[in-house]
Amino acid sequence: MVKKILLLFSLVFLLVECTQQQDSEKPFNIILVIGDGAGLTQISAGMYANGNSLAVEEFEFVGLSKTHAADALVTDSAASGTAMACGVKTNNGAIGVTPEGIAQKSILEVCQEKGYATALLATSSIVHATPASFYAKVPSRRQYEDIALQLREHSVDIFVGGGKKYFVQREDERNLMDEMGDYAFVHDLNAFEKTNQQKIAFLTYDEEPPKLTDNRVPALEHVVSLSLQKLAARNQPFFMMIEGSQIDWGGHANDLDYVISEYQEFNRTLEKVLAFAKKEGNTLVVVTADHETGGLAILDGNLKENVVKGGFTTKSHSATMVPVFSFGPHAKHFKGIYENTAIFDKMAALVEKQNL
Ligand code: MG
Ligand code: ZN
Repeated sequence: MVKKILLLFSLVFLLVECTQQQDSEKPFNIILVIGDGAGLTQISAGMYANGNSLAVEEFEFVGLSKTHAADALVTDSAASGTAMACGVKTNNGAIGVTPEGIAQKSILEVCQEKGYATALLATSSIVHATPASFYAKVPSRRQYEDIALQLREHSVDIFVGGGKKYFVQREDERNLMDEMGDYAFVHDLNAFEKTNQQKIAFLTYDEEPPKLTDNRVPALEHVVSLSLQKLAARNQPFFMMIEGSQIDWGGHANDLDYVISEYQEFNRTLEKVLAFAKKEGNTLVVVTADHETGGLAILDGNLKENVVKGGFTTKSHSATMVPVFSFGPHAKHFKGIYENTAIFDKMAALVEKQNL
């Protein structure tokens, strides 16, 4: 009898060991989530307006990132996007190249070389500075048609964002959608969900998508959830970059309601990402901003009524450090204070399996 019980115990023990081993053998995924212009004040405003609660509160480690560009203390989204995507400080306006114009390998490309699936999702156009930093190499962020052409050459598995006109109404009269025959181009969330194609492009608007309060679709959290399901179904690690693009535009407009509504969609997206990382395991999630926008200060409000009032000091960006929240395997490497280029360095080291 005792022998039987012992046998049963060891069987259960073995079973538990096996499942744990399987878990650690799951592909290692990286999800980088960027709130454009989401400095500490924007995050605080989003939190107080959301019943004093945010998904980032569940993240295990917090760091601070120094955002300055190579040629200016106050960065733009091209230089800061390039810093995080490629690990180099460059001049404002430049994407994926050094100040001397030398093209740099991005974390997305590092991941692709290691056999990762890749995804880029933004609430701006897909050729806008932040997402472009992960695949394009151009001296000026305004070269939208060149940037679209570089995306066409990149084999990103899933991309979602506006800017369709840069693919189909081009000066060179090429139709990139026709040329990208290996992609399923979908036009709504339903079609996005249904397609079984490996490569999916969802160009959400001809130009820049509208603000959320002007009925922007799809909701970022929905398209992110579906993308995570699709990538998790492949037996392959993945790198995903998600951008809440318009938190920044609310800052430029000095419109606090715009900032908060965009941040709240960003937060709902983070809830989905965090739930995925907890359930799937072996997924590193890093949440940060490229810079702060508007020089925002919270000056009044009411916690019970979810009301936040504040003032902006600029229509442009500011040079304050921005938070980095991390969750999952190796998250501890993202604590502390460092240059924004270190975000690339740390991710690349993990993918290359070097020591940090
Ligand atoms: Mg951006
Ligand atoms: Zn901006």
